[in-house]
Amino acid sequence: MSEEIFKKVVSHCKEYGFVFPSSEIYDGLGAVYDYGQNGVELKNNIRQYWWRSMVQLNENIVGLDSAIFMHPKIWKASGHIDGFSDPMVDNKDSKKRYRADNLLEDQIDKYIKNGKTQKAEELQNNLDQALTDNNLDALKELITTHEIACPVSGTRNWTDVRQFNLMYKTQMGALAEDADDVYLRPETAQGIFVNFLNVQKTGRLKIPFGIAQTGKAFRNEVVARGFIMRMREFEQMEMQFFVRPGTEMDWYQHWKESRMKWHLSLTSDVSKYRFHDHVKLAHYANAAVDIEYQFPIGFKEVEGIHSRTDFDLSQHQQFSGKKLQYFDPEINQNYVPYVVETSIGLDRMFLLQMCNAYKEEQIQNGEQTETRTLLALHPALAPVKLAILPLMKKDGLPELARKIMDDFKFEFNCFYEEKDAIGKRYRRQDAIGTPFCITVDHESLSDQTVTIRHRDTMFQERVKISALKDIIAPQVSMNNLLKNLL
Ligand code: ATP
Repeated sequence: MSEEIFKKVVSHCKEYGFVFPSSEIYDGLGAVYDYGQNGVELKNNIRQYWWRSMVQLNENIVGLDSAIFMHPKIWKASGHIDGFSDPMVDNKDSKKRYRADNLLEDQIDKYIKNGKTQKAEELQNNLDQALTDNNLDALKELITTHEIACPVSGTRNWTDVRQFNLMYKTQMGALAEDADDVYLRPETAQGIFVNFLNVQKTGRLKIPFGIAQTGKAFRNEVVARGFIMRMREFEQMEMQFFVRPGTEMDWYQHWKESRMKWHLSLTSDVSKYRFHDHVKLAHYANAAVDIEYQFPIGFKEVEGIHSRTDFDLSQHQQFSGKKLQYFDPEINQNYVPYVVETSIGLDRMFLLQMCNAYKEEQIQNGEQTETRTLLALHPALAPVKLAILPLMKKDGLPELARKIMDDFKFEFNCFYEEKDAIGKRYRRQDAIGTPFCITVDHESLSDQTVTIRHRDTMFQERVKISALKDIIAPQVSMNNLLKNLL
């Protein structure tokens, strides 16, 4: 049932100009997507809400826009060249590639479904051990002993398990033989670390302070599924907060709470969110938690908050030979700062908003019941805030409607439409999440009033044109959303 809803959200995204498969006329490109006319507005609004909540509301957080290409040594220092990989295995008959850990996790789920909890636990422990030890042979052995078959071919004819690096490599330089290998960044964070001193010095920033960045990241995901949940090209919104060593756990707690508050500001359904503490920590972290949201296909990570110690700056200090230290005048000491990171996927947040907002309602239309599809997006995030609809295409109605449009288009995104019956036009606006529609009719000409229709309740009321701004502006205002965060 929930899978059904997820499928509906995916087709809604396509049908209403939110998300298209990339290169669709060439049959698409795996796990790469384009944002359409409504999608780009929603995505910009989410990005803006994140950016303003970080950079504008926090006096000690500044922004950055670092390049996607970076010196290849950066990825050696960060550990991505040696360690940013997934264990993969191919089925020789179907030629399909899988993540070995995913195959084993699916098997654990099967055991649980069939009531074989002891077997499930045993396999989980062995899987955890093999992953911790980075033991590829042990993973292969588990696949063999648990008689895991390829879901496509049904055979157990597997290759050895190999590490598959997720970074895209390309060449920089004109001549192939002189060219250097460079990578498309798999996260935006490293651009922040290598600019730590540039920003600190030129901004005369005192610890604690943060640097925020949004931008594209690229990962050659072995198994990319779940629509824009797991893409090969996606966008991250990351903030690295630099703190005095020893204070990181307080800041970790602070950012954990602050980020959850940001998420909850956009929803009325608090029960759909939860924290998931990492049991097995990455080698550089001393604490890590995910914020998870209950998508129709289950709870999934949307954002990670990680206490990264001084790992990244120390590594870059060592690999670059340049000091990446801060002199703390309060304690009269030089040190490599510790870092608490908040890292959220913009595309995953977009999908969260679509899933959270998608509703189907049965409504009465005269004798008939019909289904109304609605995107109950927060008005401040909605792609279009106000649709202006003249009831007819004559008698001066379009002229008055245009005049209203001209007054409002400087304030927020408006949409003008004169075609089709008014009911149809309302439905189309419901489907893209427009919080307000106004209808201009003959009465409007004589008394300067219009009908305003509210998306969620479908309630309609007659109001003066001069009163419209006071009704609409506070509700669609991102400022008001931001004020609630304080
Ligand atoms: P996952 O466990 O889902 O692969 P991750 O732990 O590797 O995610 P991070 O490296 O912590 O993710 O990245 C931070 C955020 O970036 C994630 O919380 C997620 O929202 C987003 N993200 C990561 N990989 C992808 C992807 N392939 N497609 C879309 N968003 C992604």
